[in-house]
Amino acid sequence: MTSVSLGIPAVNSATEPDPARPDHPGLLDRYGRVATDLRVSLTDRCNLRCTYCMPPEGLDWMPADQALTDDEVVRLVRIAVEQLGVRQVRFTGGEPLLRRGLERIVRDITSLQPRPKVSLTSNGIGLSRRAEALADAGLDRVNISLDTLDPERFKRISLRNRLSDVLEGLSAAATTDLHPVKVNSVLLRDVNDDEAIPLLRYCLERGYELRFIEQMPLDAQHGWDRSNMITAAEIMHRLSGEYRLETDTEERGSAPAERFLVDGGPAAVGIIGSVTRPFCGDCDRTRLTADGQLRSCLFSQGETDVRGPMRAGAPDDEIADLWRNAMWRKAAGHGIDDPGFIQPSRPMSAIGG
Ligand code: SF4
Repeated sequence: MTSVSLGIPAVNSATEPDPARPDHPGLLDRYGRVATDLRVSLTDRCNLRCTYCMPPEGLDWMPADQALTDDEVVRLVRIAVEQLGVRQVRFTGGEPLLRRGLERIVRDITSLQPRPKVSLTSNGIGLSRRAEALADAGLDRVNISLDTLDPERFKRISLRNRLSDVLEGLSAAATTDLHPVKVNSVLLRDVNDDEAIPLLRYCLERGYELRFIEQMPLDAQHGWDRSNMITAAEIMHRLSGEYRLETDTEERGSAPAERFLVDGGPAAVGIIGSVTRPFCGDCDRTRLTADGQLRSCLFSQGETDVRGPMRAGAPDDEIADLWRNAMWRKAAGHGIDDPGFIQPSRPMSAIGG
């Protein structure tokens, strides 16, 4: 059986729970990691066309009847929080601000007990109009993507003339209770890699916490080329030309970003070396796609369908067990450096950060 229309093989964890799995209530995997951080993709659609993510014409968007309804999203997250030990929920996309019911979903999720921490990863377009309402609904913080401060370059990278909307979204978020306001930047060789210092300066001046993310092989075009990726080491080197960076001694835990205090702190910058400095050993993430598929890892080759069983009337306990079994089979890591590495067929735009 394949899941959705992307030909991704289903992990048949539904029928054969692994006898080796201990009786653990949470999302335990074979390597002893326990997932408590749920990433929920609310849509595969986006209003930008970032060249390192999707083709200019966009993609064949998910059919509406395959997308989870707001009620279904809330139910699945409720099961994760009440039965599976999830304590952080991050809404992603595509672009989650394209989801009309976002405020209601956030309100319902933040009224769960125990209350999870709720965050949003977005391109920021439209946030200036919704930041207040999202903060009122209980959203705790935001991560906004920003790869350049140059409007022309923004247009070249995203094929849209929307830089001012992103910057307005950022400053609107900063005037609400959403805190910290984080910025995610992807540096591409000979495209925007000369902006590491201007981006950090911009964020430091405004109190945003910047994190650079190594580009990962998750684009829809399957055109990722390691030589075009600016590595964590290169980013460190460039920033050190202007700033004194010291490793933050605060416990990193499962956080993807290595954190460095800038010029003695307290301001800091983060570097997410997904490819060259993987952090899979401490991974605590589990993922739900907009069409109701569970992914144990960004780079999973298989998925577990929960939309079908849910629409067929499966009770919460059964869905919780499906989820436990799916996570038990999680791979040790992304395997990008493995000779047999295969890029997942589902692109980042349909998985979410
Ligand atoms: S690549 Fe997979 S295992 Fe590694 S940190 Fe990301 S989600 Fe976790």
